Amino acid sequence: MDGYVHSFESMAAVDGAGIRYAVFLAGCPLRCVYCHNPDTWHRSVGKPISAEALVRKVARYKPYFKTTGGVTFSGGEPLCQAAFICETAPLLSREGIGYILDTSGAVPLTDEVRCAIDRSDGLLLDLKFPDDDLYLRYTGHGIDEVLRTLAYLDEVNKPTVVRTVIVPGINDREDILRRYLDRLNGHRCVRRYELLPFHTMGFFKYENLAIPNPLSDKEALPHDVLERLQSFVNANITLQNA
Ligand code: SF4
Repeated sequence: MDGYVHSFESMAAVDGAGIRYAVFLAGCPLRCVYCHNPDTWHRSVGKPISAEALVRKVARYKPYFKTTGGVTFSGGEPLCQAAFICETAPLLSREGIGYILDTSGAVPLTDEVRCAIDRSDGLLLDLKFPDDDLYLRYTGHGIDEVLRTLAYLDEVNKPTVVRTVIVPGINDREDILRRYLDRLNGHRCVRRYELLPFHTMGFFKYENLAIPNPLSDKEALPHDVLERLQSFVNANITLQNA
């Protein structure tokens, strides 16, 4: 089976521990209003690649991964191609290379999705909004699948770093962050909760694609606001397995 890849980023120092090789898989079921990668939404934009060819590409960077680095499957939504990730996993493992998943978790919990999660070293889980109303309003998708994924991550105790993009005027308030914390507290899979700043660097993609940008009037989240809100969540989250 081929995977459909939007792009690669070698030696990425973000999106997971250590030096990472990021594989951006094409296709996403969500339409987050703040998406900075609208060019990844459709699987048809991806180029096909076999699991073997992908692992050959990645293995060239193995010396840089050391003990903490590896592959990050991102997107789009990587779990939309969970079967391809499952096929790739044993080949990566044979090379001694691990992977993490950078996902919204908003996919049906199929056998393939469980397999891709089980074989991963952990997840970066974007908890986009804390309840069904906000999730639906700002992503076009309900929250139920995310909650089922979170429950499964607890069941298998998969190390999970939860992240939320903070958008000015939408979720940049402590009372809303309390609702995220209510959602997360008590989940044993959660190792850390990180807030990410909304930025405008992807705006040009909406223009290039000639699609409406719902947040075209927004400015980037100021750094001091992010710091203050991160301090707030750090003081109020209860981590069972930090
Ligand atoms: S899940 Fe990611 S790629 Fe998909 S719409 Fe949201 S921000 Fe964009």
